[in-house]
Formats: sequence, structure tokens, C-alpha cells
Amino acid sequence: MGKRRIVVKVGTSTLAHPTGLLNLRRVEALCRVLSDLKNAGHELILVSSGAIGMGAGKLSLTQRPEDTPTKQAAAAVGQCELMYTYDKAFSQYNHTVAQVLLTAADVNHPHRFANFRNTMHRLLDLKALPIINENDTVATEELGIGDNDTLAAIVAVSMEAELLVLLSDIDGLYTADPHTHPEATLIDEITNITPDILALAGGAGSHLGTGGMTTKLHAAQICMEAGCDMVIANGADPAILYDAADGKPAGSRFCGKRG
Ligand code: GLU
Repeated sequence: MGKRRIVVKVGTSTLAHPTGLLNLRRVEALCRVLSDLKNAGHELILVSSGAIGMGAGKLSLTQRPEDTPTKQAAAAVGQCELMYTYDKAFSQYNHTVAQVLLTAADVNHPHRFANFRNTMHRLLDLKALPIINENDTVATEELGIGDNDTLAAIVAVSMEAELLVLLSDIDGLYTADPHTHPEATLIDEITNITPDILALAGGAGSHLGTGGMTTKLHAAQICMEAGCDMVIANGADPAILYDAADGKPAGSRFCGKRG
């Protein structure tokens, strides 16, 4: 397998314990694998959730806040914590991180979006690791991109990545909700998002994050249409990224349109 440009999105449920505090072992494993993939020559972009969840943990809120001002305050606290953690972890492996915060207005404004892409290309030339999140402190719910699965798909397509990996707390897309249907099986390859596939998305995400299968399938539609592969895989063991990057079986792969 050659060198690839890969976007990895990590959800709050992967980064944090249910308490909202960082899952240090997980984060350390993730940063090590990402560093190793970078050392192997891949270009990596990380889209990281966790600002609101981590801010909630740090501010000792018992659950993810519901109201906008508290969410935005939590994001302001949590984003610092996130970047501080990433900076420390990646520094151990001699990688330099760069924080990039986007809003829907940036994505929808051609000039600002072109600027974003230029900066991203420069960061990749400079071998930095861009870490992207929505700028939750200023983006309101009605005007925001809203979820990082969609944001990650927008980033992957606009940066012409070959692959987007969504690391989540589920192994991939199942034939039914595995929490309630133990007989459900994992679908390892999806070449077309049919109404039947869309119907498999239950609404539920974790209590700290935003996404669920619905936003992941929406992200898959954006990627596949643009010819980018997307994988949903369980972030419990970040080493799954090696197989995902090599095109080996890992979670559920949504194949981008070819030709
Ligand atoms: N931007 C949000 C955060 O950092 C997460 C959104 C999402 O998980 O989809 O908390």
C-alpha cells in the first residue's frame, strides 16, 4: 500500500470515560498509532470531538450540557484540555500538532473555505498534524455544522483524502441494533447507500457525544459521492487504524465511487 492521505475522526465516546474525563490509555494509544502511520509516510488529519464532553468533565458537570451558553463555555474549557493533551502526547513522538477550528460559515463561504484548504495544505507540507474541531464556542446549534462526522466528511472530500476513518464505540454498521438484537451481524462492505441501509441507523449516540449512525451514514454519502472510502471502526483499540489504512478488513467500509 502506498502513502495515503487519511482523515481520522475520533468521537467523544472513544476519547473519554463515561465520566467525561479523558481515557488516558486510549488517547495515548491513539496518538502512538497516528504517529506511527505518519512515520510510515501517510499524511494524516485528525478531526477530534471531545471539547464539550471534556469541558463538562473538567467543570464537574454531571452530563453533557443542554443549553447553548453552557455548551459553549464547556467547549472553551474542553478544547484547551484536548489540545494540551494532544500536544503532549504527539510531542513524545516528535510530531507537531496544529489546531484548526471551523464553523459552518467558513465551510459555506468560498473564500474562507479556500483559505482553510490553503492553510491545511501548508500544514501538511510542513509535516504538522492538523487537529480539527468545530468552533463550538461561537457556532450555535442552528447555524453550526452540528456534528463531527459530517465535518470530517467535508474535510476529507475538500482535502481530497483517499480515506476517512470514523472511530466510534461501535464496530461498524450492523444488520440491526446489536444492543437489542444479539443476532445482528456486522456489514463489512457497503457499495451503495440504499434506503434499506439508511433504515439501519438508529438514533442513539453516547450521552457525551453528538453522533450516532445517522450522521455516520450521512458522512458516508458525502465521501462515497466524491470517491473517498470511509470506514466506521471501533476506537477501543486504535491499532485498527493500521488495517483500515492498508485496505484490510476493519469495521464497515463504505466504498467511494470509482471512475
Ligand atoms: N464539536 C463537538 C465537541 O468537540 C463534538 C461534535 C460531535 O461529536 O459530533 O464536543
